[in-house]
Amino acid sequence: MSLSRVFLPSQTVLRKVDRWIDAHKKDLVDLTCRLVSIDTTVPPGLNYPKISQVLAGELKELGVTPSVTHIPEATIKRKVSPEVGLKGPRPNTYAILKGEGDGPKILLNGHVDVVPADPSGWTNDPFKPTIRNGQIYGRGAADMKGSDACTIFSLKALVETGAKFAGSITPTFTTDEEVGGYTGVNHLVDKHVITKDIDYCISTDSGIEVLHVASLGDSEFVITVKGEAAHSGRGWTGINAIEEAAGLIEKLKVLGGEIGKRRSRIPAEPMYGTKKMRPGLYVNMIKGGLKGNIIPDTCEILVDRRFIPEEKAAEVEKEINRVVREFAKESPAKISMKKILGYDPMITPPNHKLVKVVRKQARKVLGRDTPPAGSQGSTDMAVVSQLGIPVAVLGATRQDSNIHGIDEHVRINDLVSVTKILTHSYLELLPIRRE
Ligand SMILES: [Zn+2]
Repeated sequence: MSLSRVFLPSQTVLRKVDRWIDAHKKDLVDLTCRLVSIDTTVPPGLNYPKISQVLAGELKELGVTPSVTHIPEATIKRKVSPEVGLKGPRPNTYAILKGEGDGPKILLNGHVDVVPADPSGWTNDPFKPTIRNGQIYGRGAADMKGSDACTIFSLKALVETGAKFAGSITPTFTTDEEVGGYTGVNHLVDKHVITKDIDYCISTDSGIEVLHVASLGDSEFVITVKGEAAHSGRGWTGINAIEEAAGLIEKLKVLGGEIGKRRSRIPAEPMYGTKKMRPGLYVNMIKGGLKGNIIPDTCEILVDRRFIPEEKAAEVEKEINRVVREFAKESPAKISMKKILGYDPMITPPNHKLVKVVRKQARKVLGRDTPPAGSQGSTDMAVVSQLGIPVAVLGATRQDSNIHGIDEHVRINDLVSVTKILTHSYLELLPIRRE
């Protein structure tokens, strides 16, 4: 047994950190505004080099050398289908902060891209951030450039106050989360920047009301029904692909009904009317027919299957395939199925140490609980979770931040709180040891 003792951060250290963060509120707001004013709308995601430069500059101020990975264009072409509409280089920016001596490794992640904004509905230009009533307005203010600024300042608070920690912290800022692309987090996994030996991951791509510990998996399938074209006047001589597809959709709806009754053991966010995370199967697109007087020979349907962490991607596919095969036996049409998109679910046990620590620190800073919950969305953090790394997600958005909508905004006080929660969590997760 080791004789070394773990020293948790003292109240004095934490108070010093909080004072530093409070005193730098204006700088935190300034950085958020600088990030928002760089239009990183994806697609196409043209301004990533600019935002990477700003973030690398901030990381340099921590006394470390930032790294920027560049993905070869040929790799992007191979991994991302052209319909996604990516243009230009996709730099991912990161650095490693080493503490004193051995200790756990923390990975931090935030994305730098934003969804498009149509300025006509906005009170101000979405890419000219404005401050009103203690809130910053602009595309990405909440999702998630404000939280990216929190990450930077949570680390500055450590360095500037000289708070001691063991192990290491690796902040990563990645691209293309909003288009679910390969080019962000996945690339850092392929480059071995994100590896299995990381002990904890904190993502800030979320809100301050609950602590996300899970998210849904997502598989999309295109099912092609091939019939036989014919002149409508002698329609019985053809095979109507749309009518056959309609029959198949009915069977898929029955399966969807069964799936909709399943529940995860992970609690859901309270606002969607389900206590536990809930899976689903939906037919979300249909394409077929050429002209009013032709029996259609092809119909394509798109099935979106959202699955809970307890379900596996392979089983989900088999389940749909079984229904398709059974239907195909009775149908004169030829039916095939192809998976076109896949995200795994993210899952961290709600009683994991990481979750307990972040929740505890959030309670101290906010004066209320942030209960662990599963998100009914899918996230790029799944790839980190699939490496066996626990992930906790907490950031500066709120339900009323209107992310992806008009007049998206973030509360300045929430930025300050998230920054404190982050720094406090690092200090508790990375205690220094002394002989
Ligand atoms: Zn986001």
